Amino acid sequence: MGKIYQSIAQLTGRTPLLEPLRYEKEENAAAHLLLKLEYLNPAGSIKDRAALNMILRAEEDGTLQKGDTIVEQTSGNTGIALAAYAAARGYHMQIFLEAGVTKERRAILHAYGCELLDYRNIPGAAAEDEPFDPFREATMAEIFRYCRSKGPRFHYLNQVTNPANPEAHIRTTGPEIWKDTDGKADYLVCMAGTGGTITGLSEYLKNKNPELRVIAAEPAPSSRRSRSNPDAKIIDGVLHFDDVPESELTSFLRHSLYDECTDVQAEDAYLTAQKIAHREGLLIGTSGAAALYAATKIARKEEARGKNIIVIIPDGGSKYLSTELYTYHPRECSV
Ligand code: PMP
Repeated sequence: MGKIYQSIAQLTGRTPLLEPLRYEKEENAAAHLLLKLEYLNPAGSIKDRAALNMILRAEEDGTLQKGDTIVEQTSGNTGIALAAYAAARGYHMQIFLEAGVTKERRAILHAYGCELLDYRNIPGAAAEDEPFDPFREATMAEIFRYCRSKGPRFHYLNQVTNPANPEAHIRTTGPEIWKDTDGKADYLVCMAGTGGTITGLSEYLKNKNPELRVIAAEPAPSSRRSRSNPDAKIIDGVLHFDDVPESELTSFLRHSLYDECTDVQAEDAYLTAQKIAHREGLLIGTSGAAALYAATKIARKEEARGKNIIVIIPDGGSKYLSTELYTYHPRECSV
């Protein structure tokens, strides 16, 4: 028989690089923008790779046995990916949700058979008026405590400290990019949540080509929600890190992994997502659009003429239809 796959794990990765020629022309790009379309993974994002690799590593070292329960504290792409691979490999999945999780995300997690828990129900968890911060030490300690209280069959894989998260990109994403560009990767542009992607890719690709320039992009100060700016338009799934001490970053993210860091405003990301949808028929998520905005600025420079700029597109646009991603219209457009 032809080529038949038997599990979603066999469909993970090997995502294509797409050069958006119409967009490049309109934006006067001198370089080649090569979009790594990670939303084509089975559960819809780049976090499929990290989730699968964390599960595989936990299976290999004997931590995870069939029928066990995986616990995670993010409703973002990692939670969704873990829920999918847990279902496919015979594990139960529980996710602690923060307030304000979009309807789409709840529905997706529910659809994978995942049990949704409220973080505030953990005895001793943060006070109700404190914002949920999945990366805060106290949050992680609470989840570990919860798992211990439930017994040895509950496992918190914790993407924030788990080396299998960046390793997924050393094993898969990096080699794919290297192969698909015939070893001609000149720039890498991406954002960071845990930093697993930028860590793994920078390590792998700079080892192959020490001249490669890694450009990190982060949400500009005006695009970060805070008590003083609770209604800021945001770039979902990513954080700022350039002005954050390394002791407060995830256990693997280092400032030395990137050559420069550029701020992107959410509004510019939204407009870029709209352009690429209208010009190329690509529905991309906000963080990919922000990376593309940053990459487009580099692509217009004379020094980048003829170079290959790899742009990581972590997820697709359909999870953001209830946000302003495709409806935002400014009076003036700065893209
Ligand atoms: N973009 C989106 C939409 C994400 O959900 C994430 C992960 N939170 C990232 C980018 C960044 O991925 P990483 O955790 O590998 O830094």
